[in-house]
Amino acid sequence: CLMFNLNKVREDFPILGREVYKKPLVYLDNAATTQKPLMVLDAMRDEYLNVNANVHRGVHYLSQQATDLHEAAREAVRGFINARKIEEIIFTRGTTEAINLVASSFCESQMQAGDEVIVTEMEHHSNIVSWQLQAMKRGIVVKHIPITDDGILCIDQLEQLITPKTKIVSVAHVSNVLGTVNPVEQIIKIAHAHNIPVLVDGAQSAPHFKVDVQAMDCDFFAFSGHKMYGPTGIGVLYGKEEWLEKLPPYQGGGEMIDKVTWEKTTFERLPFKFEAGTPDYVATHGLSKAIEYIDAIGFDAIQQHEQELTRYCMEQLMTIDGMKIYGPMDASKKDAVVSFNVGDIHHLDMGTLLDRLGIAVRTGHHCAQPLMDRLGISGTVRASFALYNTKEEIDTLIAGIRRVSQMF
Ligand code: PMP
Repeated sequence: CLMFNLNKVREDFPILGREVYKKPLVYLDNAATTQKPLMVLDAMRDEYLNVNANVHRGVHYLSQQATDLHEAAREAVRGFINARKIEEIIFTRGTTEAINLVASSFCESQMQAGDEVIVTEMEHHSNIVSWQLQAMKRGIVVKHIPITDDGILCIDQLEQLITPKTKIVSVAHVSNVLGTVNPVEQIIKIAHAHNIPVLVDGAQSAPHFKVDVQAMDCDFFAFSGHKMYGPTGIGVLYGKEEWLEKLPPYQGGGEMIDKVTWEKTTFERLPFKFEAGTPDYVATHGLSKAIEYIDAIGFDAIQQHEQELTRYCMEQLMTIDGMKIYGPMDASKKDAVVSFNVGDIHHLDMGTLLDRLGIAVRTGHHCAQPLMDRLGISGTVRASFALYNTKEEIDTLIAGIRRVSQMF
């Protein structure tokens, strides 16, 4: 009942055919980064080969062609998340830079010492430390929504956490450790009722299901190209125009200015105000091809397949003695990420031995140490899926875990 041809899709990702330690590669570290289809790689190679020139400033043919590709990518991203305008699409290096941009510019212009940001207990460090840096610089306070033992947000506590000093809420859409899909629409409704804007960290949602920033009504949305079949080094900050207009520039340099004199400098209009320096215009083109690739398969099919992989993986994992899965046990509440430990086996040992069997998983704290503290563990083994993974790969994972378990 698969809605696309999995074998054909896998041919688009030649790396999936390689071997490690003379074993077929089983790549289950997609939450860290996905592999890239030929379509993305070919487009980028072609641009470097045939078009390459700096964007926006050149009068010459190549520069205009490169600019057209770069700005077409912005339009592709706009469509991908259904933003109203291209002015609302800021290219960044990734989710991390997008969150840092908001934390820095928002705190500078909208927050004073003692004002509060609310995050969640399951954030990636990028959505904790960005705010902590502002706490150190400007004395803002970072609060968090707690989670239940099975990794679900205690959303009923949000109202109590909000005070007159709360200026922004910043939450992960999907946890990169637990796979939990957070009720961002509900969070946004609650925050907006208090006139508080919301940033959604979409690093783990944008690759897996359709995001509509207008329907969600978030004020900011951040994601990374490399986690959704696009190149590294490119990401996106979506912001509602009214907010982006209010925020001061993040970095200074070329591209982001209107007029510069020793006395006074004025800034470019959106989105360029936030894009200092030469952008990675080849990566933006690559990202637009990744979006094209996703669109051709369609999120309905991708989500159905990944949901089935998640369900199947959890079901199979639970047949293993000593298995502990973190986060919701209902696969439909999770998205393409399964974190676990087996008995007393250290996650690093499990990951290292699985690697010897050709299976790539992630181990450790997954850049979410406060979450690890909450769960009372030092780390987990994490299997995470992409559209090209197969049930056979999960069978290999399960057989691998059994083999490693027997060694202990
Ligand atoms: N937030 C979440 C939820 C993530 O999973 C990640 C990547 N692991 C990030 C933020 C940071 O993304 P990047 O490293 O691409 O900036």
